Amino acid sequence: MPTRLKDIDFNAAFAQLPGDFHSPVEPTPFANPAELVHFNPAVAALLGLDSDIQHDEDFIGVFSGARLVNNMQPFAMLYAGHQFGHYVPQLGDGRAMTLGEINHAQQGWEIQLKGSGKTPYSRDGDGRAVLRSSIREYLCSEAMHGLGIPTTRALCLTHSQDEVYREQIETAAVLTRVAPSHVRFGSFEVFYYRNQPDQLRRLADFVITHHYAELRQADKPYLALLETVIERTAKLMAQWQCAGFAHGVMNTDNMSILGLTLDYGPFGFVEAYDPDFICNHSDHQGRYAFGQQPQSGLWNLTCLAQALTPLIEIEDAKSALETYQGHYSQHYHQGMLAKLGLHKVDEAGVTLLRQLLAQMQQSRADYSRSFRLLSAIGQDDERPVEELRNMFIDRKKFDRWCEDYRTRLRQQPGGDAQRREQMNRINPRYILRNYMAQIAIDKATGENDYSEIDRLMTLLQAPFDEHPEMAHYAEPPPDWADAIQVSCSS
Ligand code: AMP
Ligand code: MG
Repeated sequence: MPTRLKDIDFNAAFAQLPGDFHSPVEPTPFANPAELVHFNPAVAALLGLDSDIQHDEDFIGVFSGARLVNNMQPFAMLYAGHQFGHYVPQLGDGRAMTLGEINHAQQGWEIQLKGSGKTPYSRDGDGRAVLRSSIREYLCSEAMHGLGIPTTRALCLTHSQDEVYREQIETAAVLTRVAPSHVRFGSFEVFYYRNQPDQLRRLADFVITHHYAELRQADKPYLALLETVIERTAKLMAQWQCAGFAHGVMNTDNMSILGLTLDYGPFGFVEAYDPDFICNHSDHQGRYAFGQQPQSGLWNLTCLAQALTPLIEIEDAKSALETYQGHYSQHYHQGMLAKLGLHKVDEAGVTLLRQLLAQMQQSRADYSRSFRLLSAIGQDDERPVEELRNMFIDRKKFDRWCEDYRTRLRQQPGGDAQRREQMNRINPRYILRNYMAQIAIDKATGENDYSEIDRLMTLLQAPFDEHPEMAHYAEPPPDWADAIQVSCSS
């Protein structure tokens, strides 16, 4: 296990593609000294690095954008994308850059700095990321991983007192993001709309070779690529819905070709259950409201399919898109009924689910707490679970639902104990609520105290466990949480 950055080979496969795909860049160091906010040993292990690497003399320099080591050859990726329904011909990594790739256990991991200065794609932006949003991304990508949802990860977070101008003056941070690939739907769109079919094919070949090698043998590999991305995206959308995760900015430039959760901005977990929940304060129309996400996933896949039409028959692309709804429903129903502790997807289970969600919406019951408390209902128990029952406005109606639920539970094999155990591995006790991130942010920005970030990392990496010392985070959010607003400005 390397403990020195100088000993690591950073050669990146994507960098070998011609100059049409990326631009060489250099990170811009902070003007003020950089410090390490947090180091994530779990991701270090993923990369085959010893945790001692954080003490390497070059570590903070490299991951704050002040230094390059060994064969790092930073580049910013080109892409375009549909933003809120409108095509934007050129986006690209405006404040991110890939330093290189680390290979470990037959898997390549792109190492990307986010917030390390301007690139040729920065347009009017300053190339920076603020500490506030970087803490949010750092915590949430780990929370998603903890929930078993595919996502980019983060190795570490650095910070300096450099000022960054947003809605107010904030300070700058650099997040080190890690993923097998950061290719987006928009990476394909840019070559389609520029009428560059050779580059389009080259990118598709690259993605298949490096990330979907099993598709090389398919009759129609490009179609197989589209079909696989459709399936993965449908599954990802189902996982988001089951977890109550709202992304907030589902533009095609934020959609991963690997089906990862990518580009955390004004995300939010649903608290008071409401399909119309909008986490992004700037999304006035609710285009990316929580309940719209599965539809937006399909819309985005349609953009990807369109971009691939130089490589795929249109009829094939259409048929592939038609499979989306089936994949989505299967994963969603399986996932949601498992949250109810029901093993089989059938009419009766789906009806129970619909009724429960309707009652939760009517009562604005907390989504995650309701599901977590559900496992306390015993199949032969006549007593109501008061803590859960009190979350509902129409308690008589909820009692009737409980009766039907118990009847259904009695019809399936296995007892309460086994079902509870399974449900408590599916319904998290802890999610990353905005107010929790805010506490960590306030301590970090106000007092240079990063201890809450560390505590939340531990909590969110194992969100199904009890963590009695942090039980207050399983309680309903405090009143001041309602006032937190999150927008795209990060
Ligand atoms: P996002 O909404 O963060 O996914 O970003 C959309 C596009 O704007 C991407 O091309 C980003 O790289 C770019 N961008 C966002 N913030 C900045 C910034 N501060 N400086 C330069 N480019 C940015
Ligand atoms: Mg983005």
